[in-house]
Amino acid sequence: MSSKQAKVARSSKFSRVVPLAEAWLSELEVRAVVAALRSGRLALGPRAQEFERLVARFVGVRHGVAVSSGTAGLHLVVRALGIGEGDEVITSPFSFVASANCILFERARPVFADIRPDSLTIDPDDVVRRITSRTKAILAVDVFGHPADWPRLAAIARRYRLALIEDACEALGSRLGRRRCGSFGDAAVVAFYPNKQLTTGEGGMVLTNSRRLAEVCRSMANQGRRSGHNSGWLEHVRLGYNYRMDELSAALGLAQFSRLRTLLAHRGRVARMYNQLLGDLPGVSVPYVAPGVELSWFVYVVRLAGAYARHDRDRIINRLCSRGVECGDYFRPIHLEPFYRRTFGFRRGDFPVAEAVGDRTIALPFSPRLTQACVRRVVAELKAAVAGNFRG
Ligand SMILES: *Cc1c(COP(=O)(O)O)cnc(C)c1O
Repeated sequence: MSSKQAKVARSSKFSRVVPLAEAWLSELEVRAVVAALRSGRLALGPRAQEFERLVARFVGVRHGVAVSSGTAGLHLVVRALGIGEGDEVITSPFSFVASANCILFERARPVFADIRPDSLTIDPDDVVRRITSRTKAILAVDVFGHPADWPRLAAIARRYRLALIEDACEALGSRLGRRRCGSFGDAAVVAFYPNKQLTTGEGGMVLTNSRRLAEVCRSMANQGRRSGHNSGWLEHVRLGYNYRMDELSAALGLAQFSRLRTLLAHRGRVARMYNQLLGDLPGVSVPYVAPGVELSWFVYVVRLAGAYARHDRDRIINRLCSRGVECGDYFRPIHLEPFYRRTFGFRRGDFPVAEAVGDRTIALPFSPRLTQACVRRVVAELKAAVAGNFRG
């Protein structure tokens, strides 16, 4: 929404803006961050270590390396796997741009494969079609919290001897069968930006069962120092970065982690309200959840029927925004972003499923504290906006 639209909406006497996303921060988080401040230890401290231990245990992997963002974590994983110039990594165009950018950071080439029309995750059949002698890895995304088809992707990775990377930045808490997202592939990354299921402000974590990968990522996150939080201070054994998570962020993360079940339960509550109220709205479909999947709700994204075009969707979003209901149009497929078009010559038509979906998605306001009254208001506004654009 433009700031002008936001101003119009906020100045309305009758209704407040319903924000697209909002973190739920309680007194516990405030006290935890203040305690970290008072401790005097602001970096390379015990809170980040404890946070790593708890998140890794929750997800069900051996090692967690807390970092400054999900993007930083993805970069470390790509680099730690030895992916570099001339290599190809197969990934999804229907994602946040960081999951493709992290491949470019190491001068490797992102090779997109189209998505499935239901789960919106990468299509394993299309992945196989795009494997070449230069392919080094598959980087799949648990988009909107929905797990990719990890059993099939793992089989493909085994058969073609490829590394497998899980971008679980939107999926903390989701399950596929008994396993949680963040535990698939050689390494996974979760993220803690304020709109995610759990926030540290900015932050992320690399998750892996490989001790070697964890050590290399930890070292590279800490200027290439020999691994261990504080050892070998002056010895820089490889090229590194400052991708560390600070103690204030970790304190916030620990407090959020102690409330994680509540946070996830309330996200589920809001999603169920939307599902119920939108279940029979013609022309609009609610999010798909595959059998065997327990979704940790990241966003609530509805899709318009095929009869609607992108400009219908944009008009509906504009109307909702002007009425104080903040909506998003994500994802715009990565290959159509100006930088990717310019650099790689991608065009409309290259990934038809991702494009058809990207033209018709509407992300509705979603946060764990959304009230029933707010959800009702959003749904009423959506119904009115869709009726005004009827495409029977
Ligand atoms: C949030 C997100 C990331 C990481 O984002 P940061 O803002 O760097 O923490 C990466 N991939 C996906 C799909 C995301 O949604």
